[in-house]
Amino acid sequence: MAAHALEGGVAAVSEIPSLDRLLNAPAMCAALDEYGRTQVVAALRGDLDALRERALAGGLARQELGAEAVAARVAAALARAAEPRLRAVYNLTGTVLHTNLGRALLPDEAVASVLRALTTPANLEFDLDTGGRGDRDDLIDELLCELTGAEAATVVNNNAAAVLLMLNALADRREAVVSRGELVEIGGAFRIPDIMKRAGAKLVEVGTTNRTHAADYENAIGPRTAMLMKVHCSNYAVTGFTKSVSVAEVAALAHARGLPATVDLGSGTLVDLTQFGLPREDTVRETIAAGADLVTFSGDKLLGGPQAGLLVGRKDLIRKIKKNPLKRALRVSKLTLAALEPVLGLYRAPEFLAQRLTTLRLLTRPQRDIQPQAERLRGVLAHAAGEPYAVEAVPMFSQIGSGALPVDQLPSYGLAVRYTGGGRAGRHLDKLETRLRRLPVPVIGRIADDALWLDLRCLEARDEAAFTAQLAQLAEQA
Ligand SMILES: *Cc1c(COP(=O)(O)O)cnc(C)c1O
Repeated sequence: MAAHALEGGVAAVSEIPSLDRLLNAPAMCAALDEYGRTQVVAALRGDLDALRERALAGGLARQELGAEAVAARVAAALARAAEPRLRAVYNLTGTVLHTNLGRALLPDEAVASVLRALTTPANLEFDLDTGGRGDRDDLIDELLCELTGAEAATVVNNNAAAVLLMLNALADRREAVVSRGELVEIGGAFRIPDIMKRAGAKLVEVGTTNRTHAADYENAIGPRTAMLMKVHCSNYAVTGFTKSVSVAEVAALAHARGLPATVDLGSGTLVDLTQFGLPREDTVRETIAAGADLVTFSGDKLLGGPQAGLLVGRKDLIRKIKKNPLKRALRVSKLTLAALEPVLGLYRAPEFLAQRLTTLRLLTRPQRDIQPQAERLRGVLAHAAGEPYAVEAVPMFSQIGSGALPVDQLPSYGLAVRYTGGGRAGRHLDKLETRLRRLPVPVIGRIADDALWLDLRCLEARDEAAFTAQLAQLAEQA
């Protein structure tokens, strides 16, 4: 058989070696060592099935039957299957908090903390003072209260869960009053009216899309009202002839009738962003100070931490929320708490925040830092992309993303690639975009206005050498 295998010509089904023979061939040792017998046998079966099919069709070359050839195919198939599906990418989309690319990046402190929590036992629900059972919320609620001025705090899996839990705990089979201008849909199928329904709360819409007045809230309050609620518009802006009622006013109206005022802040920020040259956004502390009884916000948007939903506010309301059975179903893992604590800790030193908190460092990266980088990389990309692509270093605007401050944009710099070959430029840009996406660390940009745009805001200096190095492979893919 071995002699046959080396010969050329078309192979018959009867010439295909047996699974056992191939499995015991020296050529298979490396694959067995790396992947184990179970996987090698399965891959080998798959390979033999394919060989049989092709032999029956008369299209099997004898060289393909050698043990070495089979082993190489099996090893390649197993290597492909073993490749992680969750992969690192370069986010050059210009959207810093990109939901589809994983939102906030954790600072090193948080990563070290997660690693520790994953590999050693920790006092997750164990009170080290008394030796008794503890509450996992205890690990971060003090810090959250310190940073927001709230009386109490708790945390769940994400902000959608926080809103669901808040509504179910405080407005089940009762009414929640919300302005029509705030009935938003956040990407990924989170709609305020739907979440209300699932929480068992009846939505009472007031006002109009563009204008809502204090009297609208007031007139909607009845015996079944459980709360007045405000929702951050997040991913859209109401401009022109508009009127909305402030948190302070809504809170005053609610309190006059003995009701809580709740606010879904969405992104939520713990610091005044204008000190970093970023657009203004109400902080959680300001919202609490304005009279909100309960505020919900995300952990992985502007806060810059892990995916989480944070609830802060009045002690009695937080207590009620913590007793709700949904709280248990939506609780966070130790990974989340391990990551959240050091991130919140960074906020204690706002002077260092723009350096230490990855998200903020990216958001505040000045254009004058990004421009020389774009100029350095222009030639590299032009060379790698090849003719007839033309690459220019150009100013552009980044977005914060994740619904935070959708209108305000950050001056940035990057590369614009155009196709100069004439004809259907769009198709050629799509092709280049695909080539970039197929690199070992996929490069994700965006196509608009007949150009492929690569915003370099999120390519930090420490990643530049690796980025440049892999661009050489772009040429090979052409
Ligand atoms: C983003 C957002 C949510 C959902 O938060 P997740 O953390 O993604 O679950 C809810 N409400 C508003 C206003 C938001 O902006």
